[in-house]
Amino acid sequence: MSSKFVVKDIRILSSWGYNLSSNTDCTICRHSLNSNSLYYQDKGLDSYVVQGTCGHSFHYECIKPWVEKNKHCPICSAEWNYADRKLPQSKKKHT
Ligand SMILES: [Zn+2]
Ligand SMILES: [Zn+2]
Repeated sequence: MSSKFVVKDIRILSSWGYNLSSNTDCTICRHSLNSNSLYYQDKGLDSYVVQGTCGHSFHYECIKPWVEKNKHCPICSAEWNYADRKLPQSKKKHT
């Protein structure tokens, strides 16, 4: 009797307590958030990444002109507000 049951490639989607699907690419210029945006790469400038309160992140120079026109996150259409640079760690829901 040999029942090999090897589980591999498990993806734990909510492992870091954040149910939002955070993105790793900037959907506006389609470059990774770990590298510079399309525009700044051309200019030899360094991008920095901002996050909205919905949990999605973009290059600052990409999201800035977008939200000036749309005021909504291009991924989830939530109203765009810049989140704190630090991640929200504990929201007080219970008093
Ligand atoms: Zn970008
Ligand atoms: Zn969003």
